[in-house]
Amino acid sequence: MSITDLRNRPLRDLRISLTDRCNFRCAYCMPKEVFGADYAFLSRQAVLNEQEILRLTKIFANLGVTKVRLTGGEPLLRADLLSIVEQIANIDGIEDIAMTTNGSRLTPELAKKLKQAGLKRITISLDSLDDGIFQRLNDVGCSVNTVLTAIDAAQHAGLSPVKINMVVMKGINDHEIEAMAAFGRDKGVIIRFIEFMDVGNSNHWNLDQVVPAKEILARVGARFPIQKTAALERGEVANRYLYEDGLGEIGVIASVTAPFCGACTRARLSAEGRLFLCLFASQGFDLKSPLREGKGDDDIQKIIENLWHHRDDRYSELRMTQKSATRKVEMSHIGG
Ligand code: SAM
Ligand code: SF4
Ligand code: SF4
Repeated sequence: MSITDLRNRPLRDLRISLTDRCNFRCAYCMPKEVFGADYAFLSRQAVLNEQEILRLTKIFANLGVTKVRLTGGEPLLRADLLSIVEQIANIDGIEDIAMTTNGSRLTPELAKKLKQAGLKRITISLDSLDDGIFQRLNDVGCSVNTVLTAIDAAQHAGLSPVKINMVVMKGINDHEIEAMAAFGRDKGVIIRFIEFMDVGNSNHWNLDQVVPAKEILARVGARFPIQKTAALERGEVANRYLYEDGLGEIGVIASVTAPFCGACTRARLSAEGRLFLCLFASQGFDLKSPLREGKGDDDIQKIIENLWHHRDDRYSELRMTQKSATRKVEMSHIGG
């Protein structure tokens, strides 16, 4: 079955946030002054359990979802992660399971087990190759080496091609664009340069801090010539560029300067079971209550169908022309 929204976009991808907690405090996502010791994270009871996640994922698969991405907060903090991956991999219709992680807890053993459980691909976030800058950014003293070890572990486990997310911020890490590209070529990983986005309300975003995709591409291209190539599928968020010498590719996610809402086929499920129809939405729709109140799968499927049919979101396309919603959901809540 396939359902479309008001802009004729089908529902294809589901991003599941497994937890709202994280062991990092990236300044641009969960700054310490907001997410401090007294921050009220969700209780264990409030978070969807494994069975609830699986039930909902099956319903989403019935509605046309073929790709699932596990995210967070930090998905590796979830104790039942392997079992969740294994069971999602067995759902009819799910062709692809990926995960986005900060990598700090990805040991070689865990990477192997994730692969065996059915995880196909992994994206590891790494914003700087400079230890001082990286530790300041994650704000919990995690070293670059820890993440490099995780990248090796993922590659050895066959979770390839490994992708690396780098959020590019002017004056903070943008001087490393070329170095990051060189690292990706040496290592055989795909670097994805992400424009710093105005997600949530905590990161004091300012347009001046955004390095436009055009500039990123010009700088990478000046060092290592690149050529644009076709998207692998509809709804892909990154524009792909191949190195002309055949040494791999990069991706650029230009959600600020070149929005791609027209092809947005993604729904997001928060750790507490709210469905967000846009990364910048101010509210999510409660799916946990109907689940816990004993509603049947058909009823829940109808609720989701109805929400998707009425979806009209295109925040990024309107960002520069309209006043934004008063409060947006935090990135750590729905995982990007
Ligand atoms: N904790 C995991 C991680 O960091 O990979 C998964 C969740 S994190 C919210 C998902 C991705 O969103 C990361 O690659 C992160 O760098 C990115 N991200 C977070 N805040 C962002 C922002 N304001 N602009 C652009 N990307 C952002
Ligand atoms: Fe945690 Fe990922 Fe947000 Fe950093 S970007 S604080 S690692 S959820
Ligand atoms: Fe999709 Fe919303 Fe991002 Fe547009 S702004 S691409 S609708 S998540």
